[in-house]
Amino acid sequence: MRVYLDHSATTATDKRVIEKMLPYFSEIYGNASSQHTFGVDAAKAVENARIQVAKALNASPNEIYFTSGGTESDNMALRGVVDAHGKKGRHVITTSIEHHAIIETCKMLEKQGVEVTYLTPDKSGIVSVEKVKEAMREDTILVSVMTANSEIGSIQPIKEIGALCRERKILFHTDAVQAIGNISVDVKRDNIDLLSLSAHKFYGPKGVGVIYIRNGVKVSRFMIGGEQERKMRAGTYNTPGIVGAGEAITLACADIEGHAKHLSTLRNHLAKRIVEEIPFCSINGTMDNDKRLPGNLNVTFDFIEGESILLMLDMAGIAASSGSACSSGSLEPSHVLLSIGVPAERAHGSIRFTLGRDNDLEQIDYTVDKLKETVERLRAISPLFKTVEGEKKNV
Ligand SMILES: *Cc1c(COP(=O)(O)O)cnc(C)c1O
Repeated sequence: MRVYLDHSATTATDKRVIEKMLPYFSEIYGNASSQHTFGVDAAKAVENARIQVAKALNASPNEIYFTSGGTESDNMALRGVVDAHGKKGRHVITTSIEHHAIIETCKMLEKQGVEVTYLTPDKSGIVSVEKVKEAMREDTILVSVMTANSEIGSIQPIKEIGALCRERKILFHTDAVQAIGNISVDVKRDNIDLLSLSAHKFYGPKGVGVIYIRNGVKVSRFMIGGEQERKMRAGTYNTPGIVGAGEAITLACADIEGHAKHLSTLRNHLAKRIVEEIPFCSINGTMDNDKRLPGNLNVTFDFIEGESILLMLDMAGIAASSGSACSSGSLEPSHVLLSIGVPAERAHGSIRFTLGRDNDLEQIDYTVDKLKETVERLRAISPLFKTVEGEKKNV
């Protein structure tokens, strides 16, 4: 059996999405900026996708810009706002649990003289509105808080943070890459000025992203060159990718509730069996369904290494991850787990399972069976485990 439980790293492109994309590789291959019919046909498809994305976010089509992915959208949001508003102030507020696309961009901005406050979440992985409020200063120009976390799935109070920012006339950006399709995202309801998306996280193609910029919000362009995207993002339109992003977001947002129910049912079953059947393990983050992405589970298995668990699961055909795809392999413990107070040695024994639409109960049961075997075998050779054997209970 093969079981893919790493949907936060990427998803398979939906077959219906691929069908929609195919003609734009070979038949309708014009450059969407060209004036002839070949180009106009491609441009029509791009504009249609823009409408699809706008609808999913409750935005206007002219507030949607296509990019090369979530990373570019995050870069554009942060660097573009600092460049356009740097005279007003040079202070940015973000969190310690953001994706590297945000954290590393903030570090670069710090080298350029921008002051960045990194707020830490509580134990369940949630950053409080109070903390954001306390961090705000006269010279704060931007707050960037992700909608939902990639590693522990915690959902942030972005509506309240957005309202606070609007009241203080501070721009609010949210990285909604993990959230879209799993929970409802609405730029008007949630008072969002800028928002990042990545198509390959919602069953669309890789290499396509979206940035929403609310009308009237000034952002300097990031990719410089031609006049595409109303001069905001240069580069020949990735027509097939954009078509795929539009179709994928429409499908992903058509039945968020049904999708979330399917995922949370499987995830809760996975969590229950792990906690009941495997000693010395604990769930990271909150298990409150309203505050956690429906398909996310993050578990620490004491006395063993996450990397060893992953290797053995992989041999059994199961794909999971430790931390994010971007930092795994670096052997650094997850910055998110450290931020919620998990000690480094326990963070090393943590595994993230992220479920998707094609997973079923049989796959989850198979995963728990293999996981039990794996953990037992690894603990049998772990010198740390020997000392506590006999008092088997979950901590
Ligand atoms: C995957 C991811 C990104 C990066 O998106 P890419 O399209 O892969 O560049 C950014 N933020 C979050 C939260 C992500 O999960």
